[in-house]
Amino acid sequence: MIDVRRDFPQLRRRIKGKPLVYLDSAATSLKPRQVIKKEQEYYTRYCANVFRGIYRTSEEATEEFENARTKVAAFIGAKESSEVIFTRNTSESINLVASSMKKTDEVVVTIMEHHSNFVPWQQLAKLKVWKLGEDGRLDIGELETLITRKTRLLAITAVSNVLGTISPIRHICRIVKKINPNCLVLVDAAQAAPHMKINVQDWGVDFVAFSSHKMLGPTGVGVLWGRRELLEQLPPYQYGGEMIKEVHVDRTIFADLPHKFEAGTPHIAGVIGLGAAVDYLQFLGMGAVRKHEIEITDYALNALKSVKGVTMYGPPHSKDRGGVIAFTLKGIHAHDIAQLLDEDNVCIRAGHHCAMPLHEYLKIPATARASFYVYTTRQDIDALVIGLEKIKKIFQ
Ligand code: PLP
Repeated sequence: MIDVRRDFPQLRRRIKGKPLVYLDSAATSLKPRQVIKKEQEYYTRYCANVFRGIYRTSEEATEEFENARTKVAAFIGAKESSEVIFTRNTSESINLVASSMKKTDEVVVTIMEHHSNFVPWQQLAKLKVWKLGEDGRLDIGELETLITRKTRLLAITAVSNVLGTISPIRHICRIVKKINPNCLVLVDAAQAAPHMKINVQDWGVDFVAFSSHKMLGPTGVGVLWGRRELLEQLPPYQYGGEMIKEVHVDRTIFADLPHKFEAGTPHIAGVIGLGAAVDYLQFLGMGAVRKHEIEITDYALNALKSVKGVTMYGPPHSKDRGGVIAFTLKGIHAHDIAQLLDEDNVCIRAGHHCAMPLHEYLKIPATARASFYVYTTRQDIDALVIGLEKIKKIFQ
């Protein structure tokens, strides 16, 4: 892949004379100048509300906003752009779907879900939890015992934000629908959409949620994709301006998709910025993005293996995982690791990564997590390894 680092202004920042080693892209990605410029363009050239004005500037803003929707739809292989709903983030996208379910609905989740795809379902009913097989992978055979004729929904992550495990969504969806054609499948693609080509139709699923900020786009924007016929059946999530066709004293007729789910003024600059992020990723090519991820993850797995005392979690081979590596270092708490690495400007995450059920299941209180993206280099990984060796000396 072409060298993209010059596009990321934050990578030029030095703190105490040291370069930034950003290994926390699973939490949020850095932003390229093309995205920053596009957001700025909205504020400096055509700042106006969308859908409301009949003057040129508002029409320009609306056009840019809707262009972004079209780009996102094409990016994920949606049939039509009206199936793409803009929300605040992955969490809100999932909450939107969960809010339409009944307390009696039976929901199956995996043990490796982020709290975003766990807690909303837990509020509804007692969850049926799909545990892990060897090496942090799902045991597909177990699915047949979990999904029944009564199951309303399977909520599953495409890529675990801790183990990096890639779930075979298409295969899983086929099995689910064979057992129960009415069982819905919701995919949390927060760690997949930024890193690999996804195609919602090819997956055969019903709902897909992801966040702009993890895929080079602005914060405050999320996406919910859903099949048209299902979205049409769902009640609105929030009520107010721009989600209506008609309002009378005694009744309201709601707007068509996607506006039915987008009450109030959206994050206009953010959505337009997301459009630019999609352009940027398409320019790189999702095949090249994934290839780089496999290469850098492979390098990191080998490099971390050389550090005595390190235990890594998740599948052993880079082709089976996304660009995240959660690890522990014998005798040293994950928070101490992250704090000491920060002295050398190496940014990693420590804790439960919003996946407490998984950490309880693995019987570990916390892990350190390094995560990668298009701008991550081998030198970044080397800096992490040097830092870990230094920390080991401090704790000796
Ligand atoms: N799902 C996964 C797998 C994640 O990694 C994250 C964030 O880290 C989320 C959901 C939640 O994303 P957001 O905070 O943008 O709602």
